[in-house]
Amino acid sequence: MKNYAKMSSTYAPTLKEDPAEAELASHRLLLRAGMIRKTAAGLYSYLPLAWRSLRKIEEVIREEMEAIGAQEMLVPMVTPAELWYDSGRWQQYGPELMRMEDRHGREFCLGPTHEETFTDLVRNELRSYKQLPVTLYQIQDKFRDEMRPRFGLMRGREFIMKDAYSFDATPEGMQRSYEEQKDAYARICERCGLKALPVVADSGQIGGDTSVEYMALADAGEAELVWCDCGFAADTEAATAGICVVEGESGELEKVLTPECSSIADLATFLGVPEAQTRKALAIVTGEGKPAVVFVPGDHEMNDVKAEHAFGEFHLMSDEEIELYGLVKGFIGPVGLPQGVAAYADESLRDSQWWIVGANQKDNHYVHANLGRDFAIAQACWVDVATAQEGDACPRCGKPLHGARGIEVSQVFQLGTKYSQAMGATFMDEDGKEKPFQMGCYGIGVSRTLQAVVEQHFDEHGICWPVCVAPYEVEVIPLDNKGEVAEVAARIATEAVEAGLEVVLDDRKERAGVKFADADLMGYPYQVVLGRRGVKSGTAEVKNRATGERVDVPLDEVASWLANAIVPQRA
Ligand code: ATP
Ligand code: MG
Repeated sequence: MKNYAKMSSTYAPTLKEDPAEAELASHRLLLRAGMIRKTAAGLYSYLPLAWRSLRKIEEVIREEMEAIGAQEMLVPMVTPAELWYDSGRWQQYGPELMRMEDRHGREFCLGPTHEETFTDLVRNELRSYKQLPVTLYQIQDKFRDEMRPRFGLMRGREFIMKDAYSFDATPEGMQRSYEEQKDAYARICERCGLKALPVVADSGQIGGDTSVEYMALADAGEAELVWCDCGFAADTEAATAGICVVEGESGELEKVLTPECSSIADLATFLGVPEAQTRKALAIVTGEGKPAVVFVPGDHEMNDVKAEHAFGEFHLMSDEEIELYGLVKGFIGPVGLPQGVAAYADESLRDSQWWIVGANQKDNHYVHANLGRDFAIAQACWVDVATAQEGDACPRCGKPLHGARGIEVSQVFQLGTKYSQAMGATFMDEDGKEKPFQMGCYGIGVSRTLQAVVEQHFDEHGICWPVCVAPYEVEVIPLDNKGEVAEVAARIATEAVEAGLEVVLDDRKERAGVKFADADLMGYPYQVVLGRRGVKSGTAEVKNRATGERVDVPLDEVASWLANAIVPQRA
């Protein structure tokens, strides 16, 4: 028989003060509400209340996975290095991969993701096209030795992930499995109370061609997005927007003295032109070790992720390197570049003839520099590297894009045969030929989702859990710890449990103010407040935490009132 929980014995050590290390509201509130604690940098313990919420998120995930026929299982978190050598990722993956040796000197890593393990699992055993498709998933701790673990559960080193892997015979089959996961992910976000956008993503470390990220919209999000009323949305790392390039004026090539104007802002002000008329130059050394200069519209940035696709593991030149290659910091331009330094430019500048650029000479710029007449960009040197931003044209409909920030809560990828090919995971197809599996992989940050929910649901008093992921649905708050008030409160709590609700009773010997503050901080969706006056008049006050609405409800109707309000809001 289920019972209500008692606050007096719930391990939820609350904090009165804001913890100094917490920059994000959600991080601060999860700490203050006694839901998480930092064990070490990027390593968090989930206390009982957080654990209840996490289990609810996991339950939503399980239901949605079951609905599309994905099967839950579990592989070891520790992964033998051989598998990563097989896929080629042992060398590729950076220091985020926590590598280690066992007592026999064998190499292992802590799984940051498990494409290798799952591909290995099916090779040699999933043999026939008749058995396909198969989608397997697990909910497990992952480990990534993040350079800057921060924001609590948002960017931990050990964190909970749901990861799924689909195996299909054909690209069309993979596409179907991918669409099913993508749709399920949208439902998971919605059922967890998250406002999220599916955005076109960069495929990053995992590789493959097609990918979508679900971004929970939040000003504090680390990801930058652009979106359009037509439904288009993309990570700025992946968006190829129509950048509206502003032309410089036409005329003879003219060198102008621009003292101290080494930044675009200073230059534009000095010349009295919009920044967009100028061209920003970035000096880099490409992945192949070659010096190059990359031009983007003056009012745009070069995107690191896009640039990595174009140049490999490039880096921005240091001051020493700039000097070494004969460049002049702050005054770099395409006219008269030093020998051996290649000139690249963003695609958006292809049709722009008149540029305002550095003159490769201290305190000098060129105006009316003409593409074709005064300088050239080689055919192979047009690259898509500028970061899309608010106001650029939507690639789908041409309207101006909006900017937003988001928290990446999940991502789906079409992998194709990237891993199956590399690892020799094949099946016998209908035509009698051995073929590599067509794969997809799909990840949800479970612990990150929990914090993203808080980031979207809080006010100045604390968390406002949506019913679907609240640790408890109702808190009953007696204003007296003994006598009739305590008795009636316990009776209401019991009736609410009997009505199928998840209830906690604040039976602590605390002042009303303390109980109210804690209830608001912990954020249970409904509070039932009961005092002497209520007992006498036969009513309890029910408060909706999120809206602040208060209703007096007759004592013997409280449980059914709550059930009517809460059950339809469940995930
Ligand atoms: P990010 O760009 O934020 O580093 P990612 O794209 O590298 O994330 P994926 O490989 O797509 O992450 O992992 C799947 C999901 O796991 C992500 O969508 C995110 O929700 C979650 N996740 C990834 N890294 C972390 C982390 N350090 N802490 C918590 N959750 C994480
Ligand atoms: Mg991702």
